Amino acid sequence: MNVVRNPATEETIAELPEATIEDADRAVAAAKSAFPAWHAVSPADRGRLLRRLATVVEEHGEELALLETRNVGKPISDSRGEAGMVADVFHFYAGAVDKHFGETIPVPGGVDMTFREPLGVVGLITPWNFPMNIASWKLGPALACGNTIVLKPAELTPLSTLRLGELALEAGIPEGVVNVVVGPGRVVGQRLVEHSDVAKIGFTGSTEVGAGVMRGAAGTIKRVTLELGGKSANVVFADADLEKAAASAPYAVFGNAGQDCCARSRILVERSVFDRFMELLVTATGDIKVGNPEDPSTEMGPLISAGHREKVAAYVDGDVAFRGDAPDGPGFWFPPTLLAPVSNDDRAAREEIFGPVAAVIPFVDEEEAIRLANDTPYGLSGSIWTENGARALRVARALEAGVLSINSNTSVRVQTPFGGFKQSGFGRELGLHALEGYTEVKNVYFATE
Ligand code: NAD
Repeated sequence: MNVVRNPATEETIAELPEATIEDADRAVAAAKSAFPAWHAVSPADRGRLLRRLATVVEEHGEELALLETRNVGKPISDSRGEAGMVADVFHFYAGAVDKHFGETIPVPGGVDMTFREPLGVVGLITPWNFPMNIASWKLGPALACGNTIVLKPAELTPLSTLRLGELALEAGIPEGVVNVVVGPGRVVGQRLVEHSDVAKIGFTGSTEVGAGVMRGAAGTIKRVTLELGGKSANVVFADADLEKAAASAPYAVFGNAGQDCCARSRILVERSVFDRFMELLVTATGDIKVGNPEDPSTEMGPLISAGHREKVAAYVDGDVAFRGDAPDGPGFWFPPTLLAPVSNDDRAAREEIFGPVAAVIPFVDEEEAIRLANDTPYGLSGSIWTENGARALRVARALEAGVLSINSNTSVRVQTPFGGFKQSGFGRELGLHALEGYTEVKNVYFATE
């Protein structure tokens, strides 16, 4: 039995049967038999169905937001934004689907053309931190391109994904096109990864499990997209608007209680303004409102589980510069915490903590800032704060990361590509780039001479 809890209260909110290997096989068989008919639906009509799904999600936005808040512990204001994004993602791919087509290529002796073909059955595996958002980032382009789906959410937070599956049926997407299986990753997830009828795995999760997915997919030469962990840098130069940078930095690392792959959990600050920046950062961090996620004014909720809280706590030892407030419990609470000054070689600066703990690291000049920011096995996101436009672009070009912001700490937009460099994975989600990952290019040569 899969017991699902509210991490803010520790109460059981659902008990679900655990899917087995046989269930995964049945889901793959259902997706396989639904594929020919779904593939045959014209792109414009698939777009209409996705548009309808977007509308149904909008109509159920408040319900989805509350479900996400109760299951993940994230503030209701965040969950409302995320439910809005799910609808926006389906609207975007509804509009994109009939504008994604092949080319004609001039060649001697004939006409050459390319077609974008769907892959077939795709397995989508998602993590517990942004369940409905990440499900939509994969579902939108995969459905738009004519694939059928087996979607496996994380065991801790399956509820909004199950509801999305029901809403897809309500919107008129035919039975068998979207299948949701809830079960252990190493059983159900692994079965999808190794299944010979699954053409691709779209995976979001930890780098460690992602490496196993890549190995497991090798046996059937399966396509994979991997969206993995991060240890991103928030680089603050002395010529930045320090007030703005310091006011923004806490949200970049304490948002979703730090359980965010894009968390800028290494705050790199030019040494000449380090003390001033720390003063501003401590004040801004102290202002974060931690508490009941269902209160619309709450800015940070609990961690996902007791086990995860223990893991996060193990990173907080010597260099605590500030520790904010958090409720005592019940609930898996952890205060926003600043470690400073930290060396980039320390464990807290090297490993993904995935909790509300920021390491503040001094640097002397632009060259050192770039070196430290890139001195990590990860390469997901990052920010650059400076009023010097040439420097901003120079540093942005030098950083080894897939998603960067200048004078901002936001990472994710429906219209723009999202994904990592290095051990943060490969492939891109969102924007038009995501469509590439859910199609094969077929080339056809027609001899005319
Ligand atoms: P996880 O890797 O433990 O699990 C992710 C998913 O994989 C879950 O559904 C899990 O059940 C499944 N899984 C586990 N073992 C498996 C196996 N052997 N075969 C197939 N599937 C398996 O990650 P998590 O703890 O749920 O999420 C946190 C991690 O996700 C963090 O590292 C975070 O950075 C990363 N993440 C990355 C992004 C991104 O877009 N780059 C976004 C969100 C989270």
